[in-house]
Amino acid sequence: MISRIKKDFRLTRLWPWIEKSPPRRLAFAVVMALAAAAFQWMVYPLSQGRITFIFFVPAIVLVTSIAGRWPGALVAAVGLVNIMLMKSPGKMLIFNSGEQVTLLSSALVSVMIILVGDYYRSISRRELSDLHELHELSAALASIPRLPDQLNLILSTFARMHSAHQGIISIYDLARDRLSVAASRGLSPRTLDEIRERRGGEGVCGLVCVDKVRVIIEDTHLDPRVSDSRASLRREGVRAVHSTPLIALDGSVIGALTVHMREPHRPTEREIRIADICARKAAVFIERARAEERVSERDRRFESVLSSSGVPFVVLSPVRDAAGKITDFRWGFLNTAAARVMKCRPVEFLGRKVTDTLPRAWHDRARFDLYVEALEKNEVRETERQSEADGNQSWYHVVASPLDGDLAVWFADITQRKLQERALIEADRRKDEFLATLAHELRNPLAPIRQAATIARNENATDAQKRWSNNVIERQVQHMSLLLDDLLDVSRITHGTLQLRKQQTDLQSIVSAAVETARPLIDERKHQLILELPDDLQLNCDPLRLAQVLSNLLANAAKYTNPQGRIRVQAQHEEGELTIAVEDNGIGIAQADLSLVFGMFAQVRSAQDLAAGGLGIGLALAKGIVELHGGRIEAQSSGIGQGSRFTVRLPNAVVARQSLPAAGAALNGSGAPNKRILLADDNRDAAESLAIILRLEGHDVELAHDGNSALRSFAARRPDVALLDIGMPKTNGYEVARMIRAAPEGADVLLIAITGWAQDADKAESRAAGFDHHLTKPIEPEKLIELLNQS
Ligand code: ADP
Repeated sequence: MISRIKKDFRLTRLWPWIEKSPPRRLAFAVVMALAAAAFQWMVYPLSQGRITFIFFVPAIVLVTSIAGRWPGALVAAVGLVNIMLMKSPGKMLIFNSGEQVTLLSSALVSVMIILVGDYYRSISRRELSDLHELHELSAALASIPRLPDQLNLILSTFARMHSAHQGIISIYDLARDRLSVAASRGLSPRTLDEIRERRGGEGVCGLVCVDKVRVIIEDTHLDPRVSDSRASLRREGVRAVHSTPLIALDGSVIGALTVHMREPHRPTEREIRIADICARKAAVFIERARAEERVSERDRRFESVLSSSGVPFVVLSPVRDAAGKITDFRWGFLNTAAARVMKCRPVEFLGRKVTDTLPRAWHDRARFDLYVEALEKNEVRETERQSEADGNQSWYHVVASPLDGDLAVWFADITQRKLQERALIEADRRKDEFLATLAHELRNPLAPIRQAATIARNENATDAQKRWSNNVIERQVQHMSLLLDDLLDVSRITHGTLQLRKQQTDLQSIVSAAVETARPLIDERKHQLILELPDDLQLNCDPLRLAQVLSNLLANAAKYTNPQGRIRVQAQHEEGELTIAVEDNGIGIAQADLSLVFGMFAQVRSAQDLAAGGLGIGLALAKGIVELHGGRIEAQSSGIGQGSRFTVRLPNAVVARQSLPAAGAALNGSGAPNKRILLADDNRDAAESLAIILRLEGHDVELAHDGNSALRSFAARRPDVALLDIGMPKTNGYEVARMIRAAPEGADVLLIAITGWAQDADKAESRAAGFDHHLTKPIEPEKLIELLNQS
């Protein structure tokens, strides 16, 4: 117990306790005086009456410094009375001179001790109270949130400690070179307005901000540095100014802390010290507020960028169980785009658990695990996911990245890209399928051709067998060239280079031409063909191309209808629109496939049509040609096994009959006179077989097998027509044509190019070389004969 009391007892705690109340101070003085007197009397006999005051000296020091000068004086008075009692007991006041000296010197020592002790006491008390005030200021500042209030408190505390009635904290904006007032005390609005007008270097505050040192104006009436602001200082009744710079951490001056006094005054060291402390505090708070402002401005900008971003973005905070395992997430932030995807308003979700707002969210465990992994490994994770919100319609690229213990998640809509990817994969698949089909389709005719050629070569073959094999070869070559024509046309349509050669033609002849082409297939499969066409309908169209469309539709109808089916072609003209429908009672098309059949390389395979062959480009080509005519093509079917109907609609195709002869009429021309023909081709078989055909027509044919011999033959024989292969050795067909045209006798010659190159660019080049016509190999002899007859 005693040891505890000892432990708790501290002299340093006793002093403030004594100091706090006057009775305690008096009591302390009395106790100390009595103690000193007691010691004095104790040593009195030992010193033989010589030591009469010595114990009062420490008592006076102690009492004065702790309790003040009056209690100190009390102890001194007791000490002096004690001297008198000791020196002249019973006589009082009757001293000899020695005793008087002792009394007087003791009194003098007492007064000096009291004065010095009191002085130091007041200094230490002031310091204590300064410390106390500054401590109170720090504590109060910590609880004030706003900068203006903080600066006001600093200013008022400093002004009070400086015994000033006016003061100001000004902030200097270096960029604008202007002062602003952050806090003020006791100054009139007019003076404050004047300060706001000041630049660096003007007035006391301006001077501090520019010179970056403390400015002390001891007397405003005398100091030349305030000559420009003397009027306002006089008006405010200011006689002295003390201004301290507010210095930022980087050493720059951000403002000034200034106090004004009503009397001329030079700040004490203590005041300067306090000014420095308060200025430091003000600078710290200003800088902190600026930093916070910068951070919140950055946050605001960041948030507004995120909010206005079209990319959905959310911040998720993990929800953990007692063991620290992540069980769910909470919405910390959602931008507008994310809210739109989630079909909510951000406020509805903020702070709530994901499972409470989107109960199905974690059905996709993989996504949850990905988020958890990103958080726990503190690494960015990415994935592509389908959105459940709209029934897996949309795709998102999800990026989850850890953010100060939370998770920032972006999910960019990549639906479009995914669809394109799928379309590309599908197109690639179709292309592969097409190439396989193409190889198959091109190889198909080769077997009968080879066999027919073998039969024709056999010496034992009868004439009938040879004729049959010739027919086979002709048919198969025809089939192959149709395929190749289709391919070239498709390429022209996709590149937008297919040119229509429109002319007036009657519908009947177009349909007849189409039927003619499809006839072998229709007959082969023993279909019934019904034509329901209006009489004498004149069209303005490209007759060959339109016939190509119809023959494609007829060939499809024949292919995709079981043998002995029925194919009907109906045409009618109503309200300016011509519709031509090709209908069959074949295998039909499933509803879902109707829109696909017009796609390039599109083949809607059923068990039956697999056997039918084809490249899957016929309908794409038909669609392209019809659209070039300004029309459209539609497919209809009630489903599998229900037959199909393809309708071509051509607005404004029908025209009134003109007196001009129909284009078809020219095809029938014959009986032209025989021609002298130069035929040049390095492929001898091709040249000779064509020569035979032409000679059978009654023409006079001369053969050449390279460019040079062709030129020689031309010079010698002066033919009417030159049929030139382009890819000949030595001098190619273009060069031969140019040289023929360059010769005076070559101007009127009919030049026909016969070549495997069939692109428009090739045709343009042959035209430029001087050719009149460009025929693609394998040429159709009938077409060539027609050309010769027309010339
Ligand atoms: P293909 O060379 O395969 O015939 P098309 O472009 O002409 O190419 O036709 C595309 C697909 O449309 C065919 O593979 C077939 O599945 C379907 N189709 C076209 N015409 C008919 C029809 N008359 N009846 C049923 N299906 C058809």
